[in-house]
Amino acid sequence: MNFKLPEKVNSIIELLKANGYEAYAVGGCVRDMVMGVAPNDFDITTSALPEETMQVFKDFRIVETGVKHGTVTVICNHEPFEITTYRIDGDYLDNRHPESVSFSRKLKDDLARRDFTVNTLCYNEEDGLIDLFGGIDDIENKIIRCVGNPEKRFSEDALRIMRALRFSSTLGFSIDDETTKCIHSQKDLLKNIAIERIRDEFTKLLCGKKAFGVLSEFHDVIEVFIPEFAELTDCEQHTPYHVYDVGCHTLHALRDVESKKLLKITMFFHDFGKPKAKFTDSDGIDHFKCHASIGAKMSREILKRMRYDNKTIEKVSTLIGIHSEPCPKTKTDAKLLLSEVGEENYRDFIKVRRADCLAKADPHSHDEKLKVMQDLLDEIIENNECYRLSDLEIDGNDLIKLGFSNGKDINLALQILFIEVLVDNEKNNKNYLVSRAKALLEEI
Ligand code: ATP
Ligand code: MG
Repeated sequence: MNFKLPEKVNSIIELLKANGYEAYAVGGCVRDMVMGVAPNDFDITTSALPEETMQVFKDFRIVETGVKHGTVTVICNHEPFEITTYRIDGDYLDNRHPESVSFSRKLKDDLARRDFTVNTLCYNEEDGLIDLFGGIDDIENKIIRCVGNPEKRFSEDALRIMRALRFSSTLGFSIDDETTKCIHSQKDLLKNIAIERIRDEFTKLLCGKKAFGVLSEFHDVIEVFIPEFAELTDCEQHTPYHVYDVGCHTLHALRDVESKKLLKITMFFHDFGKPKAKFTDSDGIDHFKCHASIGAKMSREILKRMRYDNKTIEKVSTLIGIHSEPCPKTKTDAKLLLSEVGEENYRDFIKVRRADCLAKADPHSHDEKLKVMQDLLDEIIENNECYRLSDLEIDGNDLIKLGFSNGKDINLALQILFIEVLVDNEKNNKNYLVSRAKALLEEI
């Protein structure tokens, strides 16, 4: 195999070697290069001790935050590179962190502590690809397999359970049988892991190409930190609109939405309100009234519990809250929705609704409605039509000049003028609005 490392990575490796140390690009970046994918970032592993690395890079800017664990960050032309000393992890007593780490001069020691065989590959120009744990075979056969004994490896660091699921989803690989067995039997160790770390792996899992398969095979693992997920699978939908239970519908909708983090999270949680909202009528037909607002509230709580950032929480719960609203059919409907949720959420509503419908009995029932919705938006934006109070050609100060004196009246008048303009954009001109405001002043 013939790789080309980026110039800077290569020069870092060469400089370490020129000083008598071993050095390789390692882990995810080599795995990605073998798979023909562009790596996110390049990690470097070396036989040099941290202080030796710092000596070699004394003319560079260095960040020392990880030194205790063997990592020196070298800034090379404004770009940071993590250089980590070959490391042996000490005993793990808490399923999270080694009690101590010690450094080694042997590459194999460092590769043996890594999580999966596909993440143990390393490379430099002189030695080529080094594969001590069968990583290449596993990439070829598309398999995630623990390095060494899975039971031991998961009990050392239970986050690896989520990492296995994440890599299976993003790389589209299966998980080896023995590793799979231990994931199921040791899943409860995840309770010892910080939720932020689980959340980051979970989010990547949702965005992966094999999320559907991973979430169905390992739903028991997800239920360790999102117990509400279990209720979806048990929730049948006897309605003419659905062919799947809520769990299966959710996975189809998740698969069919565009691969954007927020949309994937939204689809995963969009029907969490259904089990609580379910009502079966005397004909045996199920109804799920208010499931969207119940789901919005539940997802807000779950996302908060998982320490997602406020922007994600707001956006996802807004989209879930409106996901089953009727699609706007007229420009006024469209502007009302826009004024309520903004342009970005309006666009995402279309995507969410499309994915939701694709996972139902009649997948294309909404194609036309969604096209109308999109066309209405395009027209509103193209004509620069007013859909926000701030787009109105009159404001509170203008009203005060006309003689309005109390805040409540000003708000009321602005709302009336705004609605009139939403219905007829021609009315958004100062002359008309001033004369209309004068008339309102009399009435109020
Ligand atoms: P990505 O493309 O997402 O960055 P990656 O494989 O580079 O994937 P990182 O989380 O950046 O993943 O970790 C870098 C490397 O460090 C991994 O390839 C693996 O060798 C090792 N590693 C990371 N986390 C663990 C862990 N919890 N246990 C063992 N090894 C780990
Ligand atoms: Mg990485």
